[in-house]
Amino acid sequence: MGYIEPAPIKDKENPFESMMSRFNIAADALGLDEEVYNVLKSPAKQVTVSLPITMDDGSIKVFEGHRVVHSNILGPSKGGIRYDMDVTIDEVKALAAWMTWKCAVVDIPYGGAKGGIKCDPRSMSAGEIERLTRAFTAQMAEIFGPDRDIPAPDMGTGPREMAWLMDEYSKIQGMTVNAVVTGKPLVLGGSLGRTEATGRGVMVSALSAMGKIGLIPSQATCAIQGFGNVGSWAAKLLTERGVKVIAVSDLSGAYVNKNGLDIDECIEYRNMNNGTLEGYKNADHIPGDDILYLDVDVLVPAAKEDVITVQNVEKVKAKLIVEGANGPTSAKADAIINEKGIMVAPDILANAGGVTVSYFEWVQNRLGYKWTAERVNRRSDRIMKDAFDRVYKTSKEYNVPLRIAAYILAIDKVAKTYKYRGGF
Ligand code: NAD
Repeated sequence: MGYIEPAPIKDKENPFESMMSRFNIAADALGLDEEVYNVLKSPAKQVTVSLPITMDDGSIKVFEGHRVVHSNILGPSKGGIRYDMDVTIDEVKALAAWMTWKCAVVDIPYGGAKGGIKCDPRSMSAGEIERLTRAFTAQMAEIFGPDRDIPAPDMGTGPREMAWLMDEYSKIQGMTVNAVVTGKPLVLGGSLGRTEATGRGVMVSALSAMGKIGLIPSQATCAIQGFGNVGSWAAKLLTERGVKVIAVSDLSGAYVNKNGLDIDECIEYRNMNNGTLEGYKNADHIPGDDILYLDVDVLVPAAKEDVITVQNVEKVKAKLIVEGANGPTSAKADAIINEKGIMVAPDILANAGGVTVSYFEWVQNRLGYKWTAERVNRRSDRIMKDAFDRVYKTSKEYNVPLRIAAYILAIDKVAKTYKYRGGF
């Protein structure tokens, strides 16, 4: 595939266009007919609400919230809710579609959705965030539902917000409905194993991919960008399987130790240090972005979107990229990555461990039963491993990179289901 220099070079791609460019390549490879293409590219439902909230000082501030259901062809839609000043309907649309493909890749019976409220939760009190969450839930009561649309945490939200959402929804229904949302606190029906699930799925994907390109875990080195939930769990679990994690990074920069970092010590340091590695001593400190260019076998971007772009991809030396974050590689960088022969375990596959265990949470809520952590981990490992194998097989069949193979697999599944169900 030839590389075409885009003009003008943009640092940040429109996330919807970025998703659509991969979708289009996969739809072409699959020979998707135009009618189904049109069905799958258009979100099923987009709802925007305005949320007037009484602030602590007595003033009323109006927030804007969105929920986009991209697809409910495979089942109820699933996707997080983010609280962030950068929330736009375009971003929510892209993330909702991503969820459709992600659920289809790992073969769980969900469609895709996403929600967001444009706000800065760091500048709001707990009471203000609670009122905002309850107002959003009330406005979306017709959309949400354990058999309709199941939200989850995303950027700026967590178990606390999910508990408020569950409570408000339950009040409206006149009964406790804990399966309406996942990512709840354990006492409210959250699942064991959810906290580490995404990092664990990254580990399973990384080991599966390493097996395909002849990298032996005990001889392989790894660098991980982002040391939050996903990055730190991936680092810990990869280390436990013999991979030498020589660098990790967060907003304070990157920390390198050629002999391998003591990940448990890094996690403990971060936990005692306000969530950051700043000042960590048993490693060399280098500028944060330089972690992407280290001479390692495996690179795990697990921080944010658009970190590997046409502007820096030439400098990446890793043989394998395992995308812990959503959208860390810009669509325009794909061609160069492929030319360089780097294998990429794409986000919709590699970070699907989280949604898989969210699905288990929903299953347990509906069963009224709790699984052990061991059962959760065993089942999610199997789902992730099987998904990797299916994507790999599809990539060989169509002679395409894993990312396009993952889209092919997902689009094919949703398209076939649509054809069976039929439209109007
Ligand atoms: P988090 O907030 O727990 O951690 C993010 C980490 O990235 C922090 O250590 C932060 O300091 C670091 N970071 C932010 N910007 C950075 C930068 N420019 N350079 C280096 N480090 C930077 O978030 P998380 O839950 O670990 O999520 C990380 C990514 O994984 C996001 O893209 C998220 O959408 C994606 N993801 C998360 C889950 C999940 O279950 N948590 C599931 C699927 C995908």
